Amino acid sequence: MNRTRIVVVGAGFAGLACVRRLQRRLAPGQATITLVTPINHQLYLPLLPQVAAGVLSPQSVAVPLRRVLNRAEIIPGGAVGVDPAARRVIVRQINDQVTVVPYDRLVLTPGSVTRTFDIPGLAEHARGMKTLAEAAHLRDHVITQLDLAAATGDREEQLARLQFVVVGGGYAGTETVTALQRLTASAVRRYPHLDPDLVRWHLVDISPKLMPELGDRLGSSALRVLEKRGIKVSLNVSVANVRDDSVALTDGRRLPTNTLVWTAGVAASPLVGTLGAETQRGRLTVTPEMRLPGHAGIFAVGDAAAVPDLTGGPGAICPPTAQHAQRQGLAVADNIAADLSGLPMRPYRHRNLGLVVDLGGWRAVSKPLGMELTGVPAQAVARGYHLMALRTGSAKTRVLTDWLLNTTAGDDFVRTGFQRNRPATLRDLEYTDAYLTRDQIHALTAQQHTTTGPGSGADTDTSHLA
Ligand SMILES: Cc1cc2nc3c(=O)[nH]c(=O)nc-3n(C[C@H](O)[C@H](O)[C@H](O)COP(=O)(O)OP(=O)(O)OC[C@H]3O[C@@H](n4cnc5c(N)ncnc54)[C@H](O)[C@@H]3O)c2cc1C
Repeated sequence: MNRTRIVVVGAGFAGLACVRRLQRRLAPGQATITLVTPINHQLYLPLLPQVAAGVLSPQSVAVPLRRVLNRAEIIPGGAVGVDPAARRVIVRQINDQVTVVPYDRLVLTPGSVTRTFDIPGLAEHARGMKTLAEAAHLRDHVITQLDLAAATGDREEQLARLQFVVVGGGYAGTETVTALQRLTASAVRRYPHLDPDLVRWHLVDISPKLMPELGDRLGSSALRVLEKRGIKVSLNVSVANVRDDSVALTDGRRLPTNTLVWTAGVAASPLVGTLGAETQRGRLTVTPEMRLPGHAGIFAVGDAAAVPDLTGGPGAICPPTAQHAQRQGLAVADNIAADLSGLPMRPYRHRNLGLVVDLGGWRAVSKPLGMELTGVPAQAVARGYHLMALRTGSAKTRVLTDWLLNTTAGDDFVRTGFQRNRPATLRDLEYTDAYLTRDQIHALTAQQHTTTGPGSGADTDTSHLA
């Protein structure tokens, strides 16, 4: 009997949940499961700001795939194109070798990248908060600014090094600015020659409210916490242009700074564009069963897909959250298993459980099941939720231990020097331009057809991509 070849692209919240469920639902004789992923862990993104702040170690938020998968074959690389007509995925492995992978069922879960705009200087100077490398880089960069500011007598240089700008007043930006402000507030005490009042954090957002999804009361409560910590919040303001030593805002101010952290939303992975499929707000249009209309055998879930939200109003789509991505991953695996057994697929339906926002220390705001909490109760819910949601016992233990250690012993502000000379731009660390054009994809799949015939995987030389 021919086994069904199931290929899953991406090992985030959606992809890993999907592969684990497929392993359980399908017998080895029924299907092969292949996971395409450039990294060998699932990143628990909601705790990433705490990695940047040094509260958590990078390993604590990275669940190793080989600990939680037993049967799936892992291809270490990124999908750089899909040819739906030929039923093939083009994968660029982490050694740059290009492989053409055939599938019978394809589940796309490549998530999202930081959303940018056509603002002069942004691509060259902005840093993101979407990958472990970005968080580690940002931590090193911030501590580097303190070290260099302490070593110069030039007041203007000090001002630029000690002023930090975060753009995006959603939960990612708010958690990032609060976590990093706490880092510099503690670190500056170890620099007796630096004036602590020179260290300034800014949070900038084009919208009139912080985290509007939390509602007015919790949004205002979060704003008060930020202002009490000296974080300057500028609403109804955006960035006009960026230079290596300053950021110009649309209200006419130019802030001297060497640091712009850009968390102003996400855009679906550029892999989406290689399919030539229909999209909604840049995410792949899918049916409530998470299938791509008009492309037999392809499913998409998570941040990269516009999954209809059947609990919302007409035309509503699920927001890009971990909560939805993980549940969609499980639901799509169930649908594939049902389909292979000749049973009907079920539409995805999940009512939002709420949101938690860690503001550092004992401060948080959270809205579990519509209940509005602030302060210690909110923080207890936030941290309890993360501990529950982390996938393995070892990840939970590491995170809990890091929290205890950070509360009792504090941080040592070690700068690792890791990849000090890399640019750390979004393009560099989120690989936003690694993707192929449709012509390149067709050339590769056609070549594979003629040299090896359909149905067998084949390695192809990277020179075709030049
Ligand atoms: C700082 C921050 C805080 C957040 N906090 C919360 C929160 O508190 N609650 C909440 O619900 N959500 C939160 N989110 C959002 C949440 O993390 C995402 O919605 C969720 O991760 C989406 O899951 P996903 O599986 O679609 O994508 P991801 O989890 O991002 O996984 C995508 C995976 O695909 C891989 N990949 C990318 N491109 C390719 C490719 N071409 N080929 C193969 N693999 C690829 C990536 O390496 C990654 O492993 C937060 C996000 C951020 C950035």
